Amino acid sequence: MTFKRKPVVAGNWKMNGLKEEGIELARGVVEGSSDLNCEIIVCPSFPLLHPVSEVLENDVKLGAQDCHFEPGGAYTGDVAVSMLVDANCSHVILGHSERRADHGETDDIVKAKAEAAYAAGLVAIICVGETQEQRDQGLTMATISTQLDASVPNEATAENTIIAYEPVWAIGTGLTATPEDAQDVHDHIRTYLKTSHSYEVTEAMRILYGGSMKPENASDLLAQPDIDGGLIGGAALNADSFLAIAKAASDL
Ligand code: PEP
Repeated sequence: MTFKRKPVVAGNWKMNGLKEEGIELARGVVEGSSDLNCEIIVCPSFPLLHPVSEVLENDVKLGAQDCHFEPGGAYTGDVAVSMLVDANCSHVILGHSERRADHGETDDIVKAKAEAAYAAGLVAIICVGETQEQRDQGLTMATISTQLDASVPNEATAENTIIAYEPVWAIGTGLTATPEDAQDVHDHIRTYLKTSHSYEVTEAMRILYGGSMKPENASDLLAQPDIDGGLIGGAALNADSFLAIAKAASDL
């Protein structure tokens, strides 16, 4: 049985943009997205979620960049999944390497957040990826396996989870994995997930590549059989470049 996976392009805006800029960017994405045959998600910072949600149309979806695993309470600075749902989010990025490195986020925490996301009806975009040092030591696949083991819940399905492979050394650096290297890791992710999840779930699950994806390299990366879209940082801050990547995904 072959599984047709609908491509996904998600823009991680990180800590960029004020309200009017976010609205303008979101409007630009909406305007250019009507004919595209891929899922499009924009992920602004928390304060922009509400205003951006008000201008989203054409099935462009809204994602947050993080959440807490507890439903509420004394967690200063954190945001609960119910608040994301209230802001019209359908997706949440979890375990981004910047959260792992700058906020001490462990695989266990990522898993707890993913479980909280599922309970709220959100789709978790779970990020994994090796550092340059791990790659140099030949530890790429082992690192990814460990992260998958500990951060992807047993309840993960193709409907509630998207995996993003983001080699840490490629994020925001202009360096990109070659399409062949990225495909090897994506194939490893799909194969490895079969040790804990069903064949049907893993064949249907979307696995995105992230790490300096831009219009110039998107088509070659997206042409790989196990690359089902992109998690885009820098290039998502410009509607034209984000849409050019979405167009490449939509042409698959
Ligand atoms: C990211 O932060 O998820 C990312 C992939 O960033 P960039 O595209 O800028 O490398």
